[in-house]
Amino acid sequence: MSAEASEREPGGRDRVSRPLFPLYAACQGSLRRIRLEQAANFEKMLWGRPRLVDHVKPEKRSQMMAAVRSKDTKPEMAVRRLVHSMGFRYRLHQASLPGKPDLVFASRRKIILVHGCFWHRHRGCRYTTTPKTRTAFWDQKFCANMERDRLTLRTLKRMGWRVKTVWQCELKNPSKLAKALNEFLSI
Ligand code: ZN
Repeated sequence: MSAEASEREPGGRDRVSRPLFPLYAACQGSLRRIRLEQAANFEKMLWGRPRLVDHVKPEKRSQMMAAVRSKDTKPEMAVRRLVHSMGFRYRLHQASLPGKPDLVFASRRKIILVHGCFWHRHRGCRYTTTPKTRTAFWDQKFCANMERDRLTLRTLKRMGWRVKTVWQCELKNPSKLAKALNEFLSI
């Protein structure tokens, strides 16, 4: 055994410390900001002095947050209907798979993920807007979502699944989407 190998922990190369995702580095800045925000909130708790103002009224904000659900979202329902009408059958949110994928086509070893452009940060998309207030909060949220998506995708691929991500904005052109999904599922 070489000296280098003997220094390694069991598991070899995978155990060597290195950044998990390039995105993680990009997230560091926002994580620092979120810590600052948490500190400010703590101060507010102590002194009752709001330092960070959400310009949406609290009741409206909670309505908005309540409208956000991880499952059975409108875009996902639309994709389900589309795929079903094309004659494909699938399982929903299979809990045994990483990230509980939206639509699982087990016999084809294929998965469709339906992503909202805003929450999952569709690159270059006009719906990928960024709120102007509480930027640290949103940055942290978006970073966490993207990191989770990356990890889920990578793990599924390593498990031998073929994965297609459908973005919410693609539903604007159902016939184009249907063609793409048919190609993906038929190959
Ligand atoms: Zn989009």
